[in-house]
Order: sequence, then structure tokens, then C-alpha cells
Amino acid sequence: MTTLSREPIVWPPQSAPSQQRNVWQAMWRGFRGRCPNCGEGRIFRAFLKTADSCDRCGQDFTGHRADDLPAYLVIVIVGHIVVPIALSIETHYAPPVELQLAIYLPFTLLASLLLLQPVKGAVVGLQWAFRMHGFDETNPDH
Ligand SMILES: [Zn+2]
Repeated sequence: MTTLSREPIVWPPQSAPSQQRNVWQAMWRGFRGRCPNCGEGRIFRAFLKTADSCDRCGQDFTGHRADDLPAYLVIVIVGHIVVPIALSIETHYAPPVELQLAIYLPFTLLASLLLLQPVKGAVVGLQWAFRMHGFDETNPDH
């Protein structure tokens, strides 16, 4: 017979209502490039490189695990904008393919670059709000 050496992991972590974090506020702050905790400090120190910590409140950002999720989300968002427009224009007007590519490709590239940092910030804000990964101060693995 074996016994568990520690408490089972429960997700989401059980926390008192006073310790719960506002998910939408944290995601909006992250979307704007601000610290999900205080909303004032900067979350990024480069285009997609998060700062080690908030320069205002000291919130540690090194525990985030956004990984490839922001890129997947940007593909989904931009794809849901570009593809219906392209299909509709092709169906109704059928302009030359060269003209369509000259518009859609730069738009897709620009929209993707413009959305990547805000979406990554929102993902980090989401992880912070749910105390995921390195934002869980009760996790003994960190
Ligand atoms: Zn902060």
C-alpha cells in the first residue's frame, strides 16, 4: 500500500474570496502592456520579452508560461478577420489575384505584429489572475 506524500493538486487553487483576482481586469491590463497586479508598471522590456518584475509594485513575471499560445490566438483572430473578408470580396467582386494578395498579405502581417504583444500581455494577465504556473506562490515546486 502506498500513501500520498503530499496534498492532491486542486485546480483552480482554492483561495479565499479576498485573495481572488479579477481576471478581465488583469487581462485588460496585460493587453495594454501593463502589470496585471498594479496596472501601472510595464510588463514588457522588449517586443515580446517580459520584464523580470514590475518596476512599480515588484510583481515577479518570470513565472509566466505563455509559450506559443499568443501566436496561436493571433492566428485565430487575424484569420477570422481576413478570411471572411477575402471570401466575400472574391465572391462579390472577383478582383485580380495580384491585387488581393497586395492587400491581404501586408494587412495580415501588420495585424499579426500589432496584436502579438497585446495578446501575450493578456495571456500573462490571465495566468497571473488564475495563479497559474509560476504565479502560484503556494506551489512547492517553485
Ligand atoms: Zn505592478
